[in-house]
Amino acid sequence: MVKLATFQNPIFQDETKAREALEAVRWPAGPYCPHCGNSDQEKVAKVGGEKQSHRPGLFYCNECKGQFTVTVGTVFERSKVPLTKWWMAAHMMNSGKNGVSAHEIHRSIGVTYKTAWFMMHRLREAMSGMSPGPMGGEGQSVQADETYYGNTSKRAKSYRKGHSRKASVVALVEPKGRVRAFHAELGIGADVVWEILVTNVHRSSDLHTDESKLYKKVGKEFASHKTVKHGWNQSGHYVGKDGQTTNAVENFFGNMKRSLRGTYIHVSEKHLQRYLSEFEFRYNNRSGLGVSDGERTARAMKGIEGKRLTYRPTH
Ligand SMILES: [Zn+2]
Repeated sequence: MVKLATFQNPIFQDETKAREALEAVRWPAGPYCPHCGNSDQEKVAKVGGEKQSHRPGLFYCNECKGQFTVTVGTVFERSKVPLTKWWMAAHMMNSGKNGVSAHEIHRSIGVTYKTAWFMMHRLREAMSGMSPGPMGGEGQSVQADETYYGNTSKRAKSYRKGHSRKASVVALVEPKGRVRAFHAELGIGADVVWEILVTNVHRSSDLHTDESKLYKKVGKEFASHKTVKHGWNQSGHYVGKDGQTTNAVENFFGNMKRSLRGTYIHVSEKHLQRYLSEFEFRYNNRSGLGVSDGERTARAMKGIEGKRLTYRPTH
């Protein structure tokens, strides 16, 4: 839960400050026109001054004669929610490693539950795909593993027996770097695993997995493929004789499952990938890599560009 004191920052109170902060993260080198891509600062002018009728934060592009603000072409465009509240929601989602529920955001920032839910999905969208490019590389290892997520209580109405009927997740982890997690919608087969790995992992990487046969075929695509046996050593981890391990990916899954169980209570399969993107983002911008809560929030807000959600009308 976010301490109220953290909301004393002016970006959570003053709409002008909130907009300026968004301009600073989105346009570190000055505004550029979303219509024609013009970034020549000589040809971009702030509209304002005496003309009070103008929207605050409006810019005029001399190149295409178009007008724009910082929210044009983003998930915030046409949103009725003030930017101060977007900053609050982004901050709450990026403080600590477990995230927050829509209910907490609803209560803390004073929007309806439904609005909080939509805001969070938009921010998840903003947080997705923020570290593109192949994972691993020459001399670097990538750990891959899969897990299943679903109700395991046999008394629960939604209990479904067997792995094949639970939501399945494949994750790739660079031990000291990034993670990527995928909801494998059709279940996890060797073909699904093959496609995820070859499209995300650099071919000259060393692949580390458990002994599951899912990785046998795709393992041949990489510089090497080393496996670890399932099982634990005295410190709760298994490390193979060549140093191979899947500890990092298992830790990621542990954290993910705790969040899904504790904070979100119920996540439908339809939205699982969005939650995975959120976990992925927090992991890739974790404090262990020197990223503060404030910096993580700013990075999340920077991801808004070109990610306007289209599956629902605006909120
Ligand atoms: Zn333009």
